[in-house]
Amino acid sequence: MPRLGLRTRLFLSHLVVMIVGLSTLLTVGKLYSPRLFVLHLEKMEEGSGSNLLTLFRRELMEGFESAWSRGALWSVAIGGTAAGGLSYLVAKRIMQPLIQIEQVTQKVAAGHLEERLPSSEIPELNRLALSFNRMASNLEGVEQRRRELVSDLTHELRTPLTVVEGYLEGLADGTIDPSTDIYQRLAKETARLRHLVNDLQELSQAEAGYLPIRAQKLEVRPLLVSLMQKFSDQLLEEGPHLKLDCPADLPPALADPERVEQILVNLLGNALRYTKEGSITIRAWSQTRQIWIAVIDTGQGIATDELPHVFERFWRSDRSRDRHSGGTGIGLAISRRLVELQGGTIDVQSELGKGSIFRFSLPLA
Ligand code: ADP
Repeated sequence: MPRLGLRTRLFLSHLVVMIVGLSTLLTVGKLYSPRLFVLHLEKMEEGSGSNLLTLFRRELMEGFESAWSRGALWSVAIGGTAAGGLSYLVAKRIMQPLIQIEQVTQKVAAGHLEERLPSSEIPELNRLALSFNRMASNLEGVEQRRRELVSDLTHELRTPLTVVEGYLEGLADGTIDPSTDIYQRLAKETARLRHLVNDLQELSQAEAGYLPIRAQKLEVRPLLVSLMQKFSDQLLEEGPHLKLDCPADLPPALADPERVEQILVNLLGNALRYTKEGSITIRAWSQTRQIWIAVIDTGQGIATDELPHVFERFWRSDRSRDRHSGGTGIGLAISRRLVELQGGTIDVQSELGKGSIFRFSLPLA
């Protein structure tokens, strides 16, 4: 049996209601009105005692019947047309937005994620349109980030691959003599690729929220002291010196020790990389239900117009685009995600040639 469309169903249901209503009216009217009319006439005949009414009775009855039938016919015709027309309009008004919804969902499914549903005057359909539009813009955002990631990735992978390819071809056709220096350069580029792949894995997990965060009561000071010791070994005589500025009675934070260490290693690594002389200070303090940890350096700094980009993945300032600095531009993107996953925020203040302050917050335990 063919399935009826919503428009036909709505129309038929209105029609059935109308037919039932009209036929009830007609049946009841047909059955009762003539009888009531006859009863009235008989009463009038008895009351007046004249035969005059008996004479006209047949004529009156016929007149009444024909007037009733004509009235009924007109009301069926006018009522039927009006009800039919109205139910057609109602069905159309409900159907139109539904057809539109169907068309838009098909377009979105086909990849046109910028399509949106217009608002509807029917509240239920309006709510449906709103949540559909929200879903579509989320999908659009995910798709855009995916595209950006793929294009950034290809860009990042191409450079070391081209370098490695160039050296290998030169070695193969004898235009480059094999030397320790060449092999070291090759090893450096492959190490860069490995570094990039590791960072990417970490970043994709962090962005997708898959990195497990085991938040616990964390004493920040001992962690900072042990980090200071680790980093002191990397410092050269003439390089910057490390300082710790952390009160002994700093309250504990609610955070994952491993992740906090990862963030600090990132920030300290950057500070070391971009600071030739002066100092690098780790400062910690508590402030309204939060703990703040800052890494303050007196290094090369970041230009004001570049500051909004530092936490974007793959972003490096032009001065650090130099491959030999070893940066991938992913470290700060991961750090930001890790801070956010633990319920904190991260920000930066910097002045070119003077130094930078990267600081992040963690909730108090
Ligand atoms: P990278 O691995 O390149 O250091 P990051 O995401 O950690 O990647 O940093 C992104 C960019 O931000 C760096 O390339 C550098 O240009 C800039 N930057 C980060 N930290 C500092 C800092 N302490 N001083 C100056 N510039 C910095």
